[in-house]
Amino acid sequence: MIRFIDLAAQYRRLKPEIDDAVGRVLSSGQFVLGEEVVAFEREFAECIGAPFAVAVNSGTSALHLALLAASVGPGDEVITVPFTFIATVASIEYTGARPVFVDIDATSHTLDVGRLEAAITSRTRAIIPVHLYGRPADMDSIVDIANRHGVTVIEDAAQAHGARYKGRAVGSLGDLACFSFYPTKNLGAYGEGGLIATGSPHLARTMRLLRDWGQDAKYQHVLKGFNYRMDALQGAILRVKLRHLEAWNEARRLHAAEYDRQLAGSGVITPAVDPELQHAYHIYAVRTTERDELRSSLHARGIETAVHYPLPIHLQPAYAGLGYRDGDFPQSEALAREVMSLPIYPELTIEAVRCVAEAVGRGVHVQS
Ligand SMILES: *Cc1c(COP(=O)(O)O)cnc(C)c1O
Repeated sequence: MIRFIDLAAQYRRLKPEIDDAVGRVLSSGQFVLGEEVVAFEREFAECIGAPFAVAVNSGTSALHLALLAASVGPGDEVITVPFTFIATVASIEYTGARPVFVDIDATSHTLDVGRLEAAITSRTRAIIPVHLYGRPADMDSIVDIANRHGVTVIEDAAQAHGARYKGRAVGSLGDLACFSFYPTKNLGAYGEGGLIATGSPHLARTMRLLRDWGQDAKYQHVLKGFNYRMDALQGAILRVKLRHLEAWNEARRLHAAEYDRQLAGSGVITPAVDPELQHAYHIYAVRTTERDELRSSLHARGIETAVHYPLPIHLQPAYAGLGYRDGDFPQSEALAREVMSLPIYPELTIEAVRCVAEAVGRGVHVQS
């Protein structure tokens, strides 16, 4: 049996460090924000080379606050991709703005910059490129186009902690960047968590107010805010885990390189490799028109797989009101039919990677 992910395996290795951090918080009596969260913000900001970091209670809250800080509201349009996790789009609607989709590129599976400019209107306020699966989007082109139109760039870096673009860390490439610490992410809390990074002291201050009821002093509300504060326990746990992030990402890259080698010529399409990018391989997704059959054949051999994502957002029933139709975003639609995620996490063994790759090779072979 090869699991898709095994979070308990990670805890077993970290147990003394984590238990110590948890004990420290429980003894301190400070459970929300406080020293541990402040220290985590500082350490995470340092790690990605961002001047300011604001910790919140989820990646979704991070996106919501980043949009509000960028003054996005009713009547505005925000451009993003339809091939992403639902939170990217939901957070745009929370502000009252309208999500406008641009299809993904067939090779990178991130925003197709060739189609970006045509989607910009006088109402466009922000662009949210998604570093899908941990692969940085084409940020130089996106930032260049955004600057020419006076539009804010908000990176959705929820899957890309520690990824690099032309040597620069993801999270320091746009005006704002949003991270999620959902347990399965490359850097995961033991509960929910998120963070916004920015180079702007003004935006950071606004988001600090908004996450804590808009208070600049106790019971003094200068903005209409939210309860989006990070727990002290998550802050303390994330500080421990942050020290391992680079090694964990390196393990993911080694696994990905082994999959690339083993699957070359197998009949499935492996993720495109770009020497200018340091991929974080949150997800290792292969592509095949025989996706569902291949998943079943792996399942029969005790190998868990997943699909990220089986239906693009523009075809989700909840977002039918946006008025998009089947056929509007052909690359996203094709990927949703053909993509399949193989197990990849730091504690996975290289033998397990080879075993999965061999099963994929056989599964594809049987069908052709
Ligand atoms: C996980 C994720 C989010 C949302 O983060 P939560 O912490 O689950 O709220 C947003 N965007 C993408 C691309 C994600 O993968």
